[in-house]
Amino acid sequence: MDYKCAFRCVAGCEGSYDVEQVIYHCPKCGELLEVQHDLEALKTRSPAAWVRLFDERKSSNRWPYASGIWGKKEWVMPGLEDDCVVSLNEGGTNLFWAERYGQTLGLADLWIKLCGNSHTGSFKDLGMTVLVSVVKQMIKHGKPIKAIVCASTGDTSAAVAAYSAAAGIRSAVLLPRGKVTTAQLVQPLANGALVCALDTDFDGCMAIVQRLAQEDGVYLANSMNSLRLEGQKTVAIEVVQQFDWEVPDWFIIPGGNLGNVSALGSGLDMMQAMGLISKRPRICVAQAEAANPLYLAYKKGFDKYEPITALATEASAIRIGNPISIRRAIRTLERYNGVVEQASESELAEAAAAADRTGTFACPHTGVALAALVKLVQRGEIKKQERVVVISTASGLKFTDFKVRYHEGRIEGVNSRFPNQPISLPSEYEAVKKAVLSALE
Ligand SMILES: *Cc1c(COP(=O)(O)O)cnc(C)c1O
Ligand SMILES: [Zn+2]
Repeated sequence: MDYKCAFRCVAGCEGSYDVEQVIYHCPKCGELLEVQHDLEALKTRSPAAWVRLFDERKSSNRWPYASGIWGKKEWVMPGLEDDCVVSLNEGGTNLFWAERYGQTLGLADLWIKLCGNSHTGSFKDLGMTVLVSVVKQMIKHGKPIKAIVCASTGDTSAAVAAYSAAAGIRSAVLLPRGKVTTAQLVQPLANGALVCALDTDFDGCMAIVQRLAQEDGVYLANSMNSLRLEGQKTVAIEVVQQFDWEVPDWFIIPGGNLGNVSALGSGLDMMQAMGLISKRPRICVAQAEAANPLYLAYKKGFDKYEPITALATEASAIRIGNPISIRRAIRTLERYNGVVEQASESELAEAAAAADRTGTFACPHTGVALAALVKLVQRGEIKKQERVVVISTASGLKFTDFKVRYHEGRIEGVNSRFPNQPISLPSEYEAVKKAVLSALE
């Protein structure tokens, strides 16, 4: 069967564009583009047959289908030639029952999807494998692309650098100087990217990279390029698959540029359109109070949206005041009976620390989602028996400085309810015994 997809305008203008064309906006109205699949062709296979195919691939190791993304290749990028797939075996991350943390909130069915347990330590890998694979195919077909570029709050640049290096394509990343973690800075350096540290914030980097992307030979990897969302949407499919094709009641997802929540919605839409699911979950987007333009719009009515200047937050990957995918995200929330919550620095840090005491190692963005969860449970919006999935977006190991400062009580405005420090002892049995046994009393 010949499955196809193409770009089209999200606002519904006529016209469709080849996914191998270098184009990011609708030439008629300037809106973003999205990838539209030929659902009629896909429907020639029954829902049960798709489920069987996806389940088979999940348990095999046949390249490239073992990847959580490429196991759904027909739904993601059907026209991609196999020899152009640039995969580091992304997706397939663990979804675990957060039993003890759930108990602290009175929830019996709380789950955390650890998207950060991935090649570069964040969910950005899910989309980057698709974008870089398409670029590899464009180059193979003679497009004069010399480099992949992006602006980043730290995780996109790590993924761009790793996947470009794996493909043998050059990359350049624009970072706000001093606003990404050490791990996030060294990742693109190690992978050989050209790293430009600019004296601005993410929104400033984004404005410059959009102009840079108009130069010949430069291909833009930010999420305004909707190729990435095609990969990221598989997180919805993967979670539902991990529940044996049952849809949870809630997704809680941290949002910055708001591509990821749009992708989550698009994965759910596609499963519904294809007849794999019928239930609609609810979606909560969680924002840091310091960078909350979507939250403000939610409170005032979505038609009153205004960009803001984002302030400093530990959740540095979502420090974005002017989200590119604002319209897409609002449409998603409207379809999924959505809510938006926010978390202060203290709330996000304490939620992450409280969850860590039950075995997680939550990054600050996951802390934002966990803090939103607390609020929704407290005001009865999330019911005790409901199944809730928190999307954890990055590995806590990229944010060790945040953890260290929390446990040393050095985060401004945060009182550290669960501080824990090493105790220094001489190398003497009696001293160690005394310390351990007295702690157990
Ligand atoms: C990119 C990122 C987000 C935000 O995703 P958007 O698509 O920009 O909303 C959240 N958490 C982490 C760790 C990220 O890297
Ligand atoms: Zn248009």
